Amino acid sequence: MGYKFDEHGFMIIPDPREFRIEREIGETLKNKVVIVRHAYCPNGHDVIWKYVKFNRHPGLRIHVRRPDGQEGDVVTSPIFGDHTRMCIGVDLVTGEKLEFHCPICGVKIPVLDKCDQCENGEMRVWSYNPNYDISHGIAICDVVDCPSSYIVSADELIAHAQVHVDLNLSGL
Ligand SMILES: [Zn+2]
Ligand SMILES: [Zn+2]
Repeated sequence: MGYKFDEHGFMIIPDPREFRIEREIGETLKNKVVIVRHAYCPNGHDVIWKYVKFNRHPGLRIHVRRPDGQEGDVVTSPIFGDHTRMCIGVDLVTGEKLEFHCPICGVKIPVLDKCDQCENGEMRVWSYNPNYDISHGIAICDVVDCPSSYIVSADELIAHAQVHVDLNLSGL
């Protein structure tokens, strides 16, 4: 595949979860992961939020609205492919479609495309550029517990598995 992705907005590091395991069990593990470092709403707000961390990395904060009108915040892990999340003031129900908003200005997070892994989901994109650019960033499905998330690079959707293979093959 030879996929090269722009590191702007992302950071490639040894998997911090494995680092912890490595310390605990004394084995050397070499997997790398991609950390989302910047995620901008269409109005230029970076929603990476330092007050909730996942393995020491600040999470991506989403203001969500459920179909019944309940609103709250969800902070998701910035480790690409990791679906760990924390909910603040909202209950999430598997399969429910959410509205995603910027927690700072309330703007709706734009849709790139329909999700290819669930029925009603749409891929919402945060740009890694402060001048919002839907063709470069991070895309997450708006249906609760749908595993769909991609890095968007020049309109191409890069799956976690592909990044994982490329990172480990390239020996970064
Ligand atoms: Zn905003
Ligand atoms: Zn989906």
